[in-house]
Amino acid sequence: MAQRILIVEDDDAHAELIHRAFSDSSERFTTEIVNTLSDARSRIAQNIPALALVDIVLPDGKGIDLLSGGEKENSFPIVVMTSHGDESVAVEAMKAGALDYVVKTSATLTELPHIAERSLREWENILARRQAEAQFRRSTAEMKAYVETAAQGVVAMDCEGRILLVNQQLEILFGYHRDNLIGKPFALLSSEAAEDLRNMMRTATAGTASAGREYLGRRQDGSHFPIEVALSFSETEGNTRILALITNITERKRHEQEMLEFQRMQLELERERELNRHKSHFLSMISHEFRTPLAIILSSSDILRNYGNKLTPEGREDHFAKITRGVRRLEDMINDILLLSRADMQRIDCMPEWHNLVHFCQTIVEEINKTFHTQRIEFKHEGERTLAFFDVHLLEHILVNLLTNAIKYSAEDGHVLFSVANEDDRCVFTIADDGIGIPEADQSRIFEPFHRASNSDVSFGTGLGLAIVKEFTQLHNGTVAFHSREGEGTMFTVTIPQPGEGSASGR
Ligand code: ATP
Ligand code: MG
Repeated sequence: MAQRILIVEDDDAHAELIHRAFSDSSERFTTEIVNTLSDARSRIAQNIPALALVDIVLPDGKGIDLLSGGEKENSFPIVVMTSHGDESVAVEAMKAGALDYVVKTSATLTELPHIAERSLREWENILARRQAEAQFRRSTAEMKAYVETAAQGVVAMDCEGRILLVNQQLEILFGYHRDNLIGKPFALLSSEAAEDLRNMMRTATAGTASAGREYLGRRQDGSHFPIEVALSFSETEGNTRILALITNITERKRHEQEMLEFQRMQLELERERELNRHKSHFLSMISHEFRTPLAIILSSSDILRNYGNKLTPEGREDHFAKITRGVRRLEDMINDILLLSRADMQRIDCMPEWHNLVHFCQTIVEEINKTFHTQRIEFKHEGERTLAFFDVHLLEHILVNLLTNAIKYSAEDGHVLFSVANEDDRCVFTIADDGIGIPEADQSRIFEPFHRASNSDVSFGTGLGLAIVKEFTQLHNGTVAFHSREGEGTMFTVTIPQPGEGSASGR
């Protein structure tokens, strides 16, 4: 359909030229010529043209008076026509909202259909842009309303973390009026969150987002409260925008705290119960273990008192020896129990120092060989280093018990191999015997105080040694493990970490 062009021109000669210029494009355009501003106005009121070509100077006013001017948008495009030398007026017309201007010459007038075509195309673009802008304004308004009523506090910031916008919920959460926040740094609300934001800014691009993290928020009155902040980066028209969604998590935290407290109490209660069970078990075992040597002592002293004069000197000596052994055994037990309970109550400190490890082990081996009248222990040492970092008293207890066990629970002609690997970062002690072994069923409980394996009758013992070994190894931050097969033998391995290369240098 042809587009209607309104031509407002009071010069008849020009009007004629213009009319003629359009005569060749009658399929595309229909033209209507009026001579005055008032005629133009009444035509426009009846029917809005697709385009108006308006002479600047008219008998009843200026052509640009047709432009609505100000904020109001023209509902159709206007191209003004000026005479030569009137360019400044044309510029004014453009400022007032004319789409284009034509300086009237015979050449430009014949060009008018092209100019009209171009102007209409541009007008279409303008309309499309106007529509998009209106749409944008509408959706921005919707967004604002949505943000304003959101349940979370919302803060929009520029690329430097300056606050651009906050919603009502944020005002409520932090007790600020928005006027006191706009333009201020985000750190005002939470210095911790602002710190994280600063770090994120170094690498953030549009789309970067942090999942909600917990921080302390600061209200205007200076009070603090726990908040969760999720940050996201976006880009609008070349500007980085940062959005923070802030939730008050006071309630959640209180709940978590209560849950934790509840769990802690449960745990404490359970520990207390366990301790009580342990204590009564321990006590009943102690009394039981004490009874055997006490009974021996009692019976031997009874015999000595009542029948002493009837006994041979050897017989008397035998009972005195029994009493002495019983007392020794009780003494050993008391010492072990004390050790264990002190370790248990963390009253034993591990005070490691640098010592000659090889020398230390050799002395222990000699002592044990003397006590047991045996030469069964073979000592081997690997590694260049001779010095190691350990607590002499604790390690002595560990090794003496393991070596004694190896001898006690193996045949008299059995072989015990004691080897030490002194490495840079740890010392590994292995004590291997080819004795009676630990039955499978006892293996899981072997470190428990007083636990003795079902085949342990071959030798006296209270079952405290390994419990002490374990405690003392742990005091060294070390580990103890074993491998055993009943009837074949047992191997215990103790590993004690050593301080790094640096601290041992020059030793
Ligand atoms: P003590 O308190 O005097 O050391 P104990 O030797 O019986 O008494 P532990 O050293 O704790 O106690 O050992 C616990 C049990 O583990 C022993 O009774 C024994 O049954 C078993 N056991 C330990 N070492 C060995 C070993 N090398 N071979 C076989 N059984 C062992
Ligand atoms: Mg033992």
